[in-house]
Amino acid sequence: MDRKCEHCNKKFTISNEEMSMYEKVDIELPTLCFPCRLKRHFSFFMFGKFRKGFSDLSKETIFTVLPKNNRYPIYTLKEWHSDKWDAMNYGQDYNSSRLFFEQLKELQEKVPHPHQNGTNNIGCDWCDDVWNSKNCYLSRSMEECEDLLYSYRNLKVKNSVDAVVCFDSERCYSSLNCHNSYKLFYSRNSKDCINSYFLLDCRNCQDCFMCWNLRGKSYCIKNIQYSKDEYNKKLELFNLDSYNQIEKFRNYFEEIAQKKAVHRQNFNLKNHGSVGDVLLNTKNCYNCFTFSDSEDCFNCIRGINNISNIDANGCWYSELLGDCACCTNSYSLKHSAWSSSRFSEYLDLCIECENCFGCVGLKKKKYCILNKQYSKDEYERLKDQIITDMKKSGEYGKFLPYSMSPGPFNFSTSFLYYPETKKEDILNLDGYWEDIDESHIEGIPTTQLPDSIKEVNESICTKALVCPETGWRFNISKDELFFYKQNNIPLPRHHFDIRIKKLFKHASVLKSYLHNCCYCQKDINAYYPPEWGYKNIACEDCYQKNLN
Ligand SMILES: [Zn+2]
Ligand SMILES: [Zn+2]
Repeated sequence: MDRKCEHCNKKFTISNEEMSMYEKVDIELPTLCFPCRLKRHFSFFMFGKFRKGFSDLSKETIFTVLPKNNRYPIYTLKEWHSDKWDAMNYGQDYNSSRLFFEQLKELQEKVPHPHQNGTNNIGCDWCDDVWNSKNCYLSRSMEECEDLLYSYRNLKVKNSVDAVVCFDSERCYSSLNCHNSYKLFYSRNSKDCINSYFLLDCRNCQDCFMCWNLRGKSYCIKNIQYSKDEYNKKLELFNLDSYNQIEKFRNYFEEIAQKKAVHRQNFNLKNHGSVGDVLLNTKNCYNCFTFSDSEDCFNCIRGINNISNIDANGCWYSELLGDCACCTNSYSLKHSAWSSSRFSEYLDLCIECENCFGCVGLKKKKYCILNKQYSKDEYERLKDQIITDMKKSGEYGKFLPYSMSPGPFNFSTSFLYYPETKKEDILNLDGYWEDIDESHIEGIPTTQLPDSIKEVNESICTKALVCPETGWRFNISKDELFFYKQNNIPLPRHHFDIRIKKLFKHASVLKSYLHNCCYCQKDINAYYPPEWGYKNIACEDCYQKNLN
């Protein structure tokens, strides 16, 4: 079925398989194309600048990525989960002469939200979406990490800086999608590597520099074998302590990515009948990305252990979800955000609820509408009436509107995936945008920093630096300086969020492009935009044959 997207006006197609899944999950067919649906979902997941604030309950200091002029009261995570307050106190009657979303938004603005997402951490105050971690700083989305700075989406990574989507690694810097590695710097898509720099798609390599597609090598530079002594002598001459030198190497590394390295068609492993990228152990998943241990899911980004979900992004351990964002441990949940509940619709931040409709911040409730308690019969009757009204007004079947998202779109996860989004388009959809005022920024332009890390002393940690790209101020922390000195890494010139975004770009492609396999020439769909200029892309068979 062909439809025209209500937001971007582009035509999109709903396949027969999707139609049957929409039917199974029992939600209306979408009126938005896939990117517009995803954009709205991830606009509910802030990637805001870290700031200091205060709990609206206790005035306790908090560090949060939520915006300063918050749309609702903010409590500390601990307070939010405590019994010091009751979300039922904010209950509202339904008014059938007003739009439902208007009323839900009114309720949402009264109910407190937690300052941070995560649990069981020590010394991770300046973090968000952090789980079972220790001593991390200005980092987001991590589990079982330790001593991690300025990092994003890591699992079991220790003592690293600027690590993005890395697993089981230690002492890494400025690396993306690297696994089981130690002292790996400026690298991408590499595994089991030690003490190396600028590796692209390498495995089991040690003491290598600027190499690509290598397996089990040591002392290689630009894929050329050297003796240990030759290698060490050459490395000495590279002046890795110099920022200008590293910039030249970074440029050369991108040239290698474009002209020399062979890139695999996708990063999928152990899948059956699935289409997408970074899929692991999935069956019949279609148009899914960064998704594992799941079955029969459509159009889902980021998730583990899901069954029969459609348009469920950032959802984990769930079944029969339709049109949900950031929900976990849920069953038969529709049009909801940040909830873990069952048989419910239009929830925001509801934990272990059942049969609730249009509620915010509830815990373990049944038969509630707009945070008001009803009997089972009353609930069913009122719910049917609201759905009828919503169908008339054209609201039913649509996700929570942009106006209910926590803050500026350009500080949300959506903006990482769709950085080309225009302010006007978001404002036209009643979303939020933050203009960055650069006029009063005081600090040292990073062009004035010493070229070599060797020329830097601890006094730098007391200074405010100004990012040349955004005008944002940032500092060098003592732990960070120690890491740079210890590993001979020059000071960064850009704000840490910009560094993370630049790395993450390589993991943010949600659309395949037609390429020819560089070995067998057959047509393949791969997740590399043509503007990246990658020359060598291999189909899965040829990649396995030639590079495994
Ligand atoms: Zn669209
Ligand atoms: Zn091929």
